Amino acid sequence: MSESLPDLYQFTRAEITELVVGWGYSPVHAATLWNALYWEMAEGIGAMQALPEKVRIRLEKETRLGVLPVALSTDSSDGYTRKFLLTLPDDRRIETVRMRFTGRATACISSQAGCAMGCVFCATGQMGFSRHLAAGEIVAQVVHVARMLKRAGEPRLRNVVVMGMGEPLHNYDATMRALEIVRDSSGLALGAERITVSTVGVVPGILRLAEERQPVSLAVSLHAATQEERAALVPAARAWPLDRLMEACRTYSAITGRRIFYEWTLIEGKNDSADHAHAVGRLLHGLPAQVNLIPLNPTSGYAGEPGRRETAREFQQILANQYNLPSTVRQRRGIDIAAGCGQLAGVV
Ligand code: SF4
Repeated sequence: MSESLPDLYQFTRAEITELVVGWGYSPVHAATLWNALYWEMAEGIGAMQALPEKVRIRLEKETRLGVLPVALSTDSSDGYTRKFLLTLPDDRRIETVRMRFTGRATACISSQAGCAMGCVFCATGQMGFSRHLAAGEIVAQVVHVARMLKRAGEPRLRNVVVMGMGEPLHNYDATMRALEIVRDSSGLALGAERITVSTVGVVPGILRLAEERQPVSLAVSLHAATQEERAALVPAARAWPLDRLMEACRTYSAITGRRIFYEWTLIEGKNDSADHAHAVGRLLHGLPAQVNLIPLNPTSGYAGEPGRRETAREFQQILANQYNLPSTVRQRRGIDIAAGCGQLAGVV
């Protein structure tokens, strides 16, 4: 299989039809191919036995199916999280995580190999940027998790979060194309409200999401409520300062009518005090917002400690009682296999 051939996972349903009909075959064969991709979740073109042999031969010759081989799969000790190290066609590695909360499965997928944003507490940021993922490579991660659940007889995949390796709005076109494909109601049919794109604050990307009214939920990694504190944790804040970011978030909510999830990694002694809670409360007061508090997960390149549970509770009370802001404290899952937020590094 040549890497240069087009990956079937990169095509929308309309493009699959165009391809198959363009070869002179019936649209019925295009529908069969689509079903083989997203219902049966075939692991190779040869396994698509419902297709006539002549169509399979043509597909084998002119396309490829970008299934990503699993180099390693690791289960967390509590059984809620499974992390997959997947191999890209150029032998780079990325990580995809399947999480299970109250019976519902979520796939946390990567949008890049490595990341250029350099957030100080993040293992992906610490490793630097390798390359953008192609749309097909993003779709392949979702199919991988959906297939695994199906083969295991577990409830089907319900949620996707683009919070794995990479900054999705730095790879905007491929990410949005992939999400369009996994949303298709005749395929994986993931609901728009169940897909969350998480950004470190790429202002042009946030504005583009709004203008294009992309049917996704948006999470913005805030972590600090002043420009100075934020720039120390998130170097991207130097390119897109806090005031511009908040302006973009206001514009986004005004255009789309959606609330934004603001992510706040709680680092003991750094951003978990009552003063910090008041600062984020003032910053977000009156906006359609929910704050997700995430106790810091350990990485080898950053010495900080997670904010304590009681501190998180006080933080939440200040947000709720004084600023009317809803918040959650993210459960720490998959930490023992380095599958938590900020821990993905694509290495064995
Ligand atoms: S937190 Fe996200 S944006 Fe920041 S370095 Fe890690 S992967 Fe990149």
